[in-house]
Amino acid sequence: MDIFTEAYATQQDSQDPLTHLRSNFLIPSKADLARKTLHPSAAPREEAGQQDEEASIYLCGNSLGLQPTLTRKYMQQYLDTWAAKGVYGHFKDIEDSSLVPWLHVDDDCVPEMAKIVGALPDEVAVMQTLTANLHLMMASFYRPTKERYKIILEGKAFPSDHYAIESHIRYHNLDPSEAMLLISPDNSNTYTLSTPQILSFIDAHAPTTALLLLPGVQFYTGQSFDIPAITAHARSKGITVGWDLAHAAGNVALKLHDWDVDFAAWCTYKYLNCGPGAIGGCFVHERHGKVKQKTPPKESGGGGEPMIEYRPRLAGWWGSSKSSRFAMTNSFVPIPGAAGFQLSNPSVADTTALRASLDVFKLTSMEALRGRSVKLTGYLQESLDRLAEEQDKEQEQEGGGRCFSIITPREPEQRGAQISVLLKSGLLDAVMESLEAAGVVVDERRPGVIRVAPAPLYNTYKDVYMFVKEFRLACQRAVRGEGGQGGSVMVGGGKEDKGWSEIK
Ligand SMILES: *Cc1c(COP(=O)(O)O)cnc(C)c1O
Repeated sequence: MDIFTEAYATQQDSQDPLTHLRSNFLIPSKADLARKTLHPSAAPREEAGQQDEEASIYLCGNSLGLQPTLTRKYMQQYLDTWAAKGVYGHFKDIEDSSLVPWLHVDDDCVPEMAKIVGALPDEVAVMQTLTANLHLMMASFYRPTKERYKIILEGKAFPSDHYAIESHIRYHNLDPSEAMLLISPDNSNTYTLSTPQILSFIDAHAPTTALLLLPGVQFYTGQSFDIPAITAHARSKGITVGWDLAHAAGNVALKLHDWDVDFAAWCTYKYLNCGPGAIGGCFVHERHGKVKQKTPPKESGGGGEPMIEYRPRLAGWWGSSKSSRFAMTNSFVPIPGAAGFQLSNPSVADTTALRASLDVFKLTSMEALRGRSVKLTGYLQESLDRLAEEQDKEQEQEGGGRCFSIITPREPEQRGAQISVLLKSGLLDAVMESLEAAGVVVDERRPGVIRVAPAPLYNTYKDVYMFVKEFRLACQRAVRGEGGQGGSVMVGGGKEDKGWSEIK
């Protein structure tokens, strides 16, 4: 069977053992997206019958993951608990709730979260938000000395990461133009950084470098970095290694503990589906989380009082051992592990959404999910390759020609779910407008990239097929000067029900 047909995509979906996971999510319908209101009628959303409406093609889980069906149920239980129990909600078990008392909501999420990033439970904390966690981690792990004070990052790091790093350097009264070492692609034709290039960059700067902070998966290109190789190499040169896993957590299989990563931080609203701005996650390797009790010898004048040794950090009451948390004694005794880096009592609304998300992840494993993801994204790449070939042929015949190129690495192990499509200059607005009008949700990153991410928990082969079909039409319209900048776009394409590859 031709793989670029709806029949093929549907068949793949019916054979894949994880397709059923999609039913755990609320997929916006095309009508939902087009409406200016939340509801088609005055009825509450769940009674209003959206399920009859055609689902959108949502390929934007790299930016904002979709809502699990459990989220509403758990949120309602949280709100009901607050309404019915007030402050007792902190401590008392409730028999008809799926949730634990608020005092334990963060701990309750930790074992499952640890599995997703390949960590021991003690190495993971559910806390704060991504950029805040990067700051907290750097406060503890970036300890510049006269010899070693530089930080290696990417030239095109996500702005928040760049700002966070720059501000730490300034905070230590150092000069960012000297202390920030930016790795950029070898030549202007590539967007990605190869592992050998990163390793030789590390070699060139090791004696003066204190910290290396890179993304697990790059937000713009979708490139997945070789975390174990880069971590091992940098650490062997005495460099502390942190990873920003915003686009990696819940996307690729991670083994942070085994890979000996020093620290990591991530958000939960991308592939982890917890809703915009939801609580973040933090990894601190076991070797950094130890809390040692020491009794100094009497003759040293210590009076036999126990002393505690732990890694310096910015502290808050939620990181202090549970026995002392409510004792209000002002003696900070950190919880061993990542939990000792927490500051505040966590948002229960956030952690409730996280609980719902993790209960979906629990239905499978990261390995199985990644296996499905490699196939889905491979199908997307093959389909786009075929489209590119078709556009090349058109060029020979009648002009037009190739509208795009893929800037994401082609090897599955060098990317996650996302493929970044670089459009020919001037086409982005028109193509995005056509896609939106067709109920296809992807996102754009200036200057010219569309990011397309089949999320393996809820996207299907059919989604990928429909995307490429609509993208093909969107390119044609854009080349003809239709769409974009207020141009009118005809959508629906009802007569083109055949696979686009069959239409010549
Ligand atoms: C999404 C993302 C962020 C966002 O940070 P917040 O603090 O959650 O707003 C930061 N860095 C990277 C690399 C990201 O992809």
